[in-house]
Amino acid sequence: MLTCEIVSVGTELLLGDILDTNAQYLSAQMALLGIAVLHRSTVGDNAARLEETVRGACARSDVVLLTGGLGPTADDLTKEVCAAVMGFELVRDEEVADAIRAFFQRRGTPMPQSNLKQADVPRGGNVFPNANGTAPGMAMERGGKCVILLPGPPHEMRPMFDLQVKPFLQAKTTGVIVSHTVRTMGIGESALAERVAPLLAGGNPTVAPYAKQGESLLRVTARAETAQQAEALMAPVLRRIRDAVGEYIYGIDVEDIQHAVVQALREKKLRLATAESCTAGYISKRITEVPGASDVFDCALVTYSNEMKEKLLGVRHETLAQYGAVSAETAAEMAAGALRVSGADIAVAVTGVAGPGCSEQKPVGLVYIGVADARGTEAIRFDTGRRDREFNRYVTASKALHTVWQRVRSI
Ligand code: ATP
Repeated sequence: MLTCEIVSVGTELLLGDILDTNAQYLSAQMALLGIAVLHRSTVGDNAARLEETVRGACARSDVVLLTGGLGPTADDLTKEVCAAVMGFELVRDEEVADAIRAFFQRRGTPMPQSNLKQADVPRGGNVFPNANGTAPGMAMERGGKCVILLPGPPHEMRPMFDLQVKPFLQAKTTGVIVSHTVRTMGIGESALAERVAPLLAGGNPTVAPYAKQGESLLRVTARAETAQQAEALMAPVLRRIRDAVGEYIYGIDVEDIQHAVVQALREKKLRLATAESCTAGYISKRITEVPGASDVFDCALVTYSNEMKEKLLGVRHETLAQYGAVSAETAAEMAAGALRVSGADIAVAVTGVAGPGCSEQKPVGLVYIGVADARGTEAIRFDTGRRDREFNRYVTASKALHTVWQRVRSI
């Protein structure tokens, strides 16, 4: 298996001025190519430290991917340092120089002479033209090591990687890597890991658990000569996962819970309405992120105040007075009201304490979810366990969506 390291170059990364999204992107892409990323590092615009980093990376890994520091100014050193480490001479490439001149001409601005420095490329290396900027990418190979340089700006780096570097690397790898993501809700990451513990020790396929904002995921990955062989390796493992935690799985390879909900509603030809208090439209926002949501989504009633809960949804004044807005009774009446008002087939309602302060003497993170359809109405209690307002709103929306998904599946 080919091994790789990613080096992000730029003092602004070290200062925290910008987030290193390039490394994240490249890590994910390498995994898809079946190339193991062993290390990631960040280094400032300093020749000595960059050289040390590149030498270390080359000693450990087959492929070293660098982004940034290909600009025309004196502090852009990546190319010079890498050429020196790899023993390549930099020479002016007239084709690249013409492309840089054309880039400025298209923009109608004069080209600073310093930009021609970007037309210097390693003799005997590969050049990846830059369709979205001036600095070309390049690759230098020697002694079984390959150093690849990419521009820093993500809008230049990504298309260059996708269209040119990916095929270049694909030619060096054999076989394929195939992954499936099992998505669960209602079980924590560690409990999930415990239930599938024997599978976690497997080498091929590998099974890796991870947590993502109120959900627990399992990624199953296999390496084989062909995609079909990889699928055959994974099939029994996926079966064992279903046996162990099937009741928590809401989808395999589905994008997220809102996609699962829209798909489930569509399959059963049902329409949904929401009544939202603490999420104030978050559930409907997530539903309508899914293309084609209009086939299954009727309306969202955002009733933040008690008055509107009464006026728009018909929640009884006595219910609010006796149990409070954050209560099972109110959630159930909100759901029933949304069902009645909209004429939809199923309605979900949420009311809770998003925080960070508490209200009605009720704890932050406490949420009630009401769900109603022709069979009746029910409410469930749910506690996010956190004081983080944004997290609570997101997770409440997820839980409400999951409640709808379960209800629709049972119809
Ligand atoms: P330029 O020709 O624009 O100077 P460059 O290859 O020299 O490109 P840098 O100067 O290092 O790249 O970075 C240019 C900009 O690209 C940064 O200011 C930043 O906005 C973005 N950038 C650089 N590195 C990264 C990274 N690792 N992740 C996300 N964005 C980055």
